[in-house]
Amino acid sequence: MASKLTNKKETRPTAVVAVTKLSAKDKAWWKDGVQFECQGSGKCCVSHDQYGFVYLTESDRVNMAKLLKLKLTDFEVQYCEVTDGFYHLKEIKDPKCMFLKDKRCTVYEARPTQCRTWPFWPEVMNAKTWKKEVAAFCPGIGKGRVWSAVEIQTILDEQAMSENES
Ligand code: SF4
Repeated sequence: MASKLTNKKETRPTAVVAVTKLSAKDKAWWKDGVQFECQGSGKCCVSHDQYGFVYLTESDRVNMAKLLKLKLTDFEVQYCEVTDGFYHLKEIKDPKCMFLKDKRCTVYEARPTQCRTWPFWPEVMNAKTWKKEVAAFCPGIGKGRVWSAVEIQTILDEQAMSENES
């Protein structure tokens, strides 16, 4: 699961650049892998601090529309907004995602890429941000199995690619 990506300043980080800019130092702390298992807290589905929108690639929108049995255009009108050329879920007054009910994602099978790739996002995979922002609020950090560096890199690349789509 995941909500948030990018910041409320409405500018989207170019994650592909972020990936290539990850220094050896940034990667060093996860070279032996990272322990993580989703605890179902739903915390990552609530906007917090600088993290805001749930962005949607075209594939994400197609998959969600299909799950909700809607035409793509109807899904986009009902659930999406476009900011700076990028589609994202509409933000309502409640900071939690509109698809989060009782701490569960009601579109889990078709959840967006950024939700599937959490917490392995290019912009948080440096030791400082991980400890200060990710480990501080996500109860899944340090739990469950170890994700290898190869697995993490694969997820980082998928997330980076998605951040360049709209
Ligand atoms: S789509 Fe699902 S996983 Fe993604 S933020 Fe919303 S409730 Fe969470």
